[in-house]
Parts: sequence; structure tokens; C-alpha cells
Amino acid sequence: GTTPAMLAVEGLVVGYSGAPVIDGMQLRLPPGQVVALLGANGAGKTTLLRTVSGLVAPRSGRVRLDGEDVTQTTVEDRARRGLAQVPEGHSIVTELTVDENLHLGGLWRLPGTKARRAAVDEMYQTFEPLARRRASLGHQLSGGERQMLALARALIARPRVLLLDEPSLGLAPRVVAQLFAILRDAAERTGLTVLLAEQNVTSALSIADRGVVVSLGAIVADAPAEKIAADPALRHAYLGF
Ligand code: ATP
Repeated sequence: GTTPAMLAVEGLVVGYSGAPVIDGMQLRLPPGQVVALLGANGAGKTTLLRTVSGLVAPRSGRVRLDGEDVTQTTVEDRARRGLAQVPEGHSIVTELTVDENLHLGGLWRLPGTKARRAAVDEMYQTFEPLARRRASLGHQLSGGERQMLALARALIARPRVLLLDEPSLGLAPRVVAQLFAILRDAAERTGLTVLLAEQNVTSALSIADRGVVVSLGAIVADAPAEKIAADPALRHAYLGF
């Protein structure tokens, strides 16, 4: 197509030692779109996210950020171009406070202590539970608070593209709803493009514009979120319910 994609993978083939785990994948995300990446355990969701962020090098194919081919670039370079990732199991520093974790998140993209302070305070307005916990150490937080901190830390750098790997894992439904509402809101307010890998199909589709289902490293369905949600055969075959 000719519509501009904020994030694209083209003919992507990724493998570890044996057969490819991702085999010739094509995906284009227009700016501001929230895409739920769905599929059973081992379908290749994590591998796709790690290839997009630069942690894994593909055997062939391309990754493009805002049209630019970044396939050969480093994780840091992609972060500088506006790509942020919340990996599985979050990524906060448990020995630092909430406030310190947030400052770290803004270190690269926000020059100067004043700009970072302002950005951190802005995050506290969005993530109210974090404001109450600003002086707490990472390891003192609940699972939900940790995931919230991981998301806030990624958003503080004002990314253009955000990758999330199973942010709902182990969280109570109420906390998941709160987290996803913030994500949806960030996408709407800032035009953030989101690729959200989730096992929690219903919650993910409820905030996504579009659902992409992967099985054995290939895309088997790609449709508006409400269409995926309403397709019992698809859910039964690939999503386990
Ligand atoms: P999960 O929800 O379990 O993370 P997933 O859809 O994210 O599943 P991947 O983690 O990408 O799937 O795994 C896809 C396949 O690649 C699996 O067969 C897995 O065993 C294999 N795999 C993943 N990481 C590695 C690795 N570091 N070395 C070798 N094989 C791997």
C-alpha cells in the first residue's frame, strides 16, 4: 500500500537455531493505531516485538520506523527515533524509588533536570496511584503498580511507537482495565502507535483498533478489533476460548 506506516515489518524471517519462528511476516501500523497482537503461547509474539525493538536480528526482511529502514540499527538508535518497549515482566529498577525510576525513563529524550521534573509531574497526574507511591522503592510496589510504573517510564520519553509484551500478566481485572484505559488515552491524546502483545484477548481487543492473530510465526487474521472479538471460529482455533 502507499499509506504511510509509523511501524512496518516487511518479509520478516526470524529464527533462533532451527526452523524460523517468524516466517515472512508483513505488518503495517499507521500512526496512532492501537493493534492487539494475539496468539497462543509460542506463536512468536515476543520474538516479533524483540525483532522490532532490535534485541533480535532477523534472518531476512526489514523493520521500518516512520518509513526509515532501521533493520541494521541498534536498540538505542531505535529508542532515539521514538520507539519504546515495555518488556514482559516489566522493567523497573527495584532498588530505586518510583520517582527515580521515572527520572531514568526521561534521561535520554528530555535534556535538563527541569524538563524531566515537569515530565515526571505530568506522569503523576495520569498515574495517580504512582503519585501516592513516589517515594516507595520499586520492590515495595504491588504488581499493578510495577506495571503502571513500567508504562509511565516508557511514556515519559514521549515515544511515537510503543511495544508492550503481556502487560496484563498476573494483574487483577480492575488493574488491567485501569492500565489499558491509560494506554488508550495516551494513544488518543498523543497519536502514539501501539503494538500490544496479549494473552488477555478480550481486554486487549476492547482498547485496540485492530487485532492481528499470529500462529506458528504467520499472521492468520488481521481485522478491526470488534470483528476479531465477534468471530467465534477464530477465537476457538487460535485464541483458546
Ligand atoms: P509467549 O506468550 O510464550 O511469550 P510468544 O507468542 O511470545 O509466546 P515467542 O516467545 O516469540 O512466542 O516464541 C516463539 C517460538 O520461539 C517458541 O517456539 C519458542 O520456544 C522459541 N523461542 C523463543 N525465544 C527463544 C530463544 N531465545 N531461543 C530459542 N528459541 C526461542
